[in-house]
Amino acid sequence: MNLIDYHVHTTFSEDGVSTPEACAKAAAGRNLSGIIFTEHLEFIPPPDSPEPAYVPARVLPAREYGLAVAAVREQWRGRLSVGLGVELGLEPHNLDAVPGYLATAELPLDYVLGSLHFIRGVLVQEPAFADRLGPTEAARLYFERLLTGVKRASSLGVCDVIGHFDLVKRSPTFGGFRLRDQRVHVEETLRVIIRGGLGLEVNTSGLRQSPGEPYPGLDTLKLYRELGGEIVTVGSDSHTAATVGLGSAEALEFIRASGFRHITLFSGRTPRRVAI
Ligand SMILES: [Zn+2]
Ligand SMILES: [Zn+2]
Repeated sequence: MNLIDYHVHTTFSEDGVSTPEACAKAAAGRNLSGIIFTEHLEFIPPPDSPEPAYVPARVLPAREYGLAVAAVREQWRGRLSVGLGVELGLEPHNLDAVPGYLATAELPLDYVLGSLHFIRGVLVQEPAFADRLGPTEAARLYFERLLTGVKRASSLGVCDVIGHFDLVKRSPTFGGFRLRDQRVHVEETLRVIIRGGLGLEVNTSGLRQSPGEPYPGLDTLKLYRELGGEIVTVGSDSHTAATVGLGSAEALEFIRASGFRHITLFSGRTPRRVAI
């Protein structure tokens, strides 16, 4: 059935609480065939940056992280596929810093998620962001910034798949996300993703949170497919072993409902389609 979870944070992320070992065990317990760890990859912003670092205390220690994932991979060989990934912030200061980091870090990455979290110093998922601007303007601004980030990440070749595509709807005060209100920006962003050979994540954390649907929703995933999108992955955005793999089976149903008959697996940052 190819149940996967390609969005897992462990204690290598400052907001993760479980070890890689515990997350792999939880994944195997939920009958997943593969997981990829995606720790936050964020850099210290320059003093004049409007955006703070999401996880400001330290930059991901590449060597230590790579060794830890390699050990877990060895432990589960033949039973669970274990990948090494990162979730790269798409804010400008992160995109400035990431090429230099990747050039020198000893990090044989399988997968890079690109995600936008901060706009004007506020987390887009917080009520403070949408409340101040109103949902329509909040979404417009979010997709404008996401588009800029995706364009630049694509031209730099530093990311494979875009994470939690419409995260702006997460706040309980946002209300429902209406694709028709944001169609122009959403469509342009999806076209850049497709042209750049990037993919879209079906992020199941939205099922556990107030939207009650994945990021993105069904309309957006259908639009991505209609525009020629091919690469779809699944991630729970877990920050604890307790939620690893939650929603992975529902995500495959959701992906099928949008018309896809495959998902995409990653190894060494190379995509490979498998039937669902
Ligand atoms: Zn994220
Ligand atoms: Zn995440």
